[in-house]
Amino acid sequence: MSKKNKRPNKRGNYQRMLQRLRGGQCGNHAKPAPEPPAAATAAPMPEFTPRELKADGQAHEDKPAPVVMVFQSELDYISRCILDYPRIETGGQLFGHWTAQGVPVVEYAIGPGPNANHQTTFFNQDVDYLVRVGQTLIERYGLQHIGEWHSHHQLGLAHPSGHDASTMVNNIARRHLRRFLLCIGNCDGRGSSTLNAFTFHEDHNYQYVHAPWHVMPELESPYRSRIDRELEHMLCHPDTRVPRMGGMLLSQHQVKPNYDSSYWLTGKANNLVLKRIIEQLQELDPSSSCAVQPKLDERQHLHLLVERATQHEHIYFPAMFPTAPPVITITPAAAEHYPGANAPDAACSIASATQGIQWNYQGDIYRAFIDYYRQIF
Ligand SMILES: [Zn+2]
Repeated sequence: MSKKNKRPNKRGNYQRMLQRLRGGQCGNHAKPAPEPPAAATAAPMPEFTPRELKADGQAHEDKPAPVVMVFQSELDYISRCILDYPRIETGGQLFGHWTAQGVPVVEYAIGPGPNANHQTTFFNQDVDYLVRVGQTLIERYGLQHIGEWHSHHQLGLAHPSGHDASTMVNNIARRHLRRFLLCIGNCDGRGSSTLNAFTFHEDHNYQYVHAPWHVMPELESPYRSRIDRELEHMLCHPDTRVPRMGGMLLSQHQVKPNYDSSYWLTGKANNLVLKRIIEQLQELDPSSSCAVQPKLDERQHLHLLVERATQHEHIYFPAMFPTAPPVITITPAAAEHYPGANAPDAACSIASATQGIQWNYQGDIYRAFIDYYRQIF
């Protein structure tokens, strides 16, 4: 039978199958399917998009993404990887997923494997490492390989080189990808890094987009601490402990935390108090570097993860703060593998550092906090 003869036959089968599925006229006794009630089709399906897309351009499946969603924990992780190699290239891969409109969501980043090739002007990942880790991230956690990052360290090139762009375009074509994400890192000689995101699309070749970051308000990726713990035997982590990020292209409309109306950070004035508290925490011990990472838990309560060279402090602001004192725990710096990742759980097992110290709040949150903190520091 020729192809020409096959086609109508196939279509006929398909039509008959459709009729059967509709409960249609294939049987002599079948009644025509009733029309669905008008209300069932009239209700529009709501469309969910990150709100900043209105400002940064509409996301569309057939265009490079206008924005890249990311958790702060993953930007921090990459910053630490970049700072490990201030004068030479380094890199890694990005895992997460794509929204239906093609916006990448970065949920877990990895850095270089033990046998990666770091050179002044190029970087090659350790393929064995990538295969081992990547396969596990996909099979065990359902993550997708959505992109790559590498650092141009201090080369003064904050965007993809011509070679980078052609590698992306060729990989997309060869691997039949619809889209891919490339992030380029840089650092300066003073220990600060940046990361810029570029979105590529199959139909747009070299017309890639420098997309702003949408940093999600829940600061830690839900995958970070879990995967770090479960794949500890497999993963390589950066030596640099403290991330330092310089100016990066951020989305114009960051999502604000959704505090409970009675929580102390609901008002603007107390957010300024928090800013002063964070600045003061960093100045308490000028002899050592200090990074303060704010983190919101599932109740949208604030935790501050303070990383010093010698110790990590975990400060929790409970629902009743400032009537009730902050909950402060201290762990030696060496106790944690990845700072911040397991802090709440790990810290809770250690006796609170504030036992026996008086919380004396009389209307001035900043004063009360600093007085309290100095007694334990
Ligand atoms: Zn490059």
